[in-house]
Amino acid sequence: MSKCRNCGGEIGNDERICPHCGIAYPAGLSKEISNDFTSRLDPVMPEYELYRMRTRKTTCLLFCLAGWTGAGFFYLGNKIKGALWLLGSLLFIVGLSTLGIVYQTQDHPAWLYILVVMGIVYCVNIGFGLYFLFASGVKDAEEELLR
Ligand SMILES: [Zn+2]
Repeated sequence: MSKCRNCGGEIGNDERICPHCGIAYPAGLSKEISNDFTSRLDPVMPEYELYRMRTRKTTCLLFCLAGWTGAGFFYLGNKIKGALWLLGSLLFIVGLSTLGIVYQTQDHPAWLYILVVMGIVYCVNIGFGLYFLFASGVKDAEEELLR
């Protein structure tokens, strides 16, 4: 037997509610409960989260250098978007370059056509890179804000 911390009445050791005054855990929190509570506070967690966070700069750099490969999306954990981006880029580059080769003339050589196609591809991806660098609230696949 022990005493209620509120009214001082006699209570059982594992009583959850005092039969006299009705207070919860009249003998104080049991050891199990307090241990359980502190174990949820993991002091290592915040640093780990910070380390794991993806950065805007890296995302931007990947889009600017090799955006057409979907590298930026893969980095952010968006594997499906990355794969679609790569597929779309390949279709665009190969398709338009083939047209350029087939219909090339003396005045419009194929290499000039391919240069323009790649220029468009890079402009679009650099645009995406700048978006990820400057837009507010951009998140990765795990819904974490970019650092
Ligand atoms: Zn009591």
